[in-house]
Amino acid sequence: MKRIRKFNKVLVANRSEIAIRIFRACTELGIRTVAVYAEQDHISLHRFKADEAYMIGEGKGPIEAYLDIEAIIEVAKRHDVDAIHPGYGFLAENAEFALRCEQENIVFIGPKASHIQTFGDKVDARAMAISAGIPIIPGTPKPVETLQEAMLFANEHGYPIIVKASAGGGGRGMRIVRSQDELQEALTRARSEAASAFGNPQVYIEKYLENPKHIEVQILADQYGHVAHLFERDCSIQRRHQKVVEVAPSVSLPSDLRNQINQAALQLMSAAGYINAGTVEFLVTPDHQFYFIEVNPRIQVEHTITELITGVDIVQSQLRIAEGYALADPEIGIQDQAQISPRGYAIQCRVTTEDPERDFAPETGRLLAYRSSGGFGIRLDGGTGFTGAVITPHYDSLLVKVSAWAMSYEQAANKMNRTLQEFRIRGVKTNIPFLENVMQHPDFLSGEYDTSFIDTKPELFE
Ligand code: ADP
Repeated sequence: MKRIRKFNKVLVANRSEIAIRIFRACTELGIRTVAVYAEQDHISLHRFKADEAYMIGEGKGPIEAYLDIEAIIEVAKRHDVDAIHPGYGFLAENAEFALRCEQENIVFIGPKASHIQTFGDKVDARAMAISAGIPIIPGTPKPVETLQEAMLFANEHGYPIIVKASAGGGGRGMRIVRSQDELQEALTRARSEAASAFGNPQVYIEKYLENPKHIEVQILADQYGHVAHLFERDCSIQRRHQKVVEVAPSVSLPSDLRNQINQAALQLMSAAGYINAGTVEFLVTPDHQFYFIEVNPRIQVEHTITELITGVDIVQSQLRIAEGYALADPEIGIQDQAQISPRGYAIQCRVTTEDPERDFAPETGRLLAYRSSGGFGIRLDGGTGFTGAVITPHYDSLLVKVSAWAMSYEQAANKMNRTLQEFRIRGVKTNIPFLENVMQHPDFLSGEYDTSFIDTKPELFE
């Protein structure tokens, strides 16, 4: 039996571009929007883009405000909010928050708390993948504490290995180890980094794969067991294990391999009984073996390019799924998998206020000029950029996400390059010149790149 609970009002427990992205989706569906903002964010754009806005966490730090579960729940209850969308980061992968919403009869727009729990721990996620029959990178089945345990794994599988935080995210809490004499220090450091970044010191070990591609599959699943994939994104262009440029669909994967990866993602999320939008991430080796690395049980920064190639509004689908609609209902409109076929290519660049010449150190200050680019096939998801805006050191340095769509990959890259050149941003440095170099690089244009792309090309920094 289908149970539909239509939302009248949705609160977004987030800030900046993703909050605005979600407000737009709500408004198009006739849903009223509520923003929350930290004291330090009182002139942040997201606050003005919602129908209602309330300050939270007075006297608290700029980040703590957005992590204040009770303050957010309180605003939601006081203002008759039906559902909360957590965006990405902050409380998006906090199982306790999802449970608190449920207790207060507020819908959490995302998967169940149990999915957040399983996929929030990479060791548990790997166990889930094994039971679903998905290949994983050789690794320790449990967290590792002692040098002896680590050596046992390294002796069996050989170096290099990578020590990873079980609760890790955002490319942090990872250390590559190439020989035994580095092992003890890597272990100690990874544990202490994990403890301070994620409040959990647990680490485990994987074999380190040389020069893999990062391929991830976008999934949508309703509450009735229907799961669909929206094809893959290639997120191999990374710096310090963090994505910088993303491409959809993948340019260089052979089609049988691509199908296998998309199928594996479906298989895993079906086995997990997953609900709502999620992403299954894989690494693909140069000899075309693919391995599961993790699931992100939330909307991702790079969802925009999947929307451009499939025409599916992922955020609106999230809202409809949370209201209780099935994928096949006209409100979502995915009757079967065969109906979704990618058209053309889309590329996303994350434009940040970082100085490529100073090792991408974050820049702060006032934007003296901010003139956007645009044109056919360009999508901008902004949150902080306008003339006069002050870039503070409190939050991440994402200024605007630029997505370009065209029928061919080369056209999309050329369009992106042209678009980046059109931006005029003065007052703070941005990574735009670096991104232009990426768009023009022959290896990028050939589609033949892997996660070593940025590290092996000093010419990108010129
Ligand atoms: P996070 O959750 O912090 O994003 P992931 O597990 O998703 O961490 O990994 C992020 C990136 O780190 C991958 O895209 C890849 O570039 C690199 N990486 C992670 N695990 C391995 C591995 N075993 N071998 C090689 N690279 C890896």
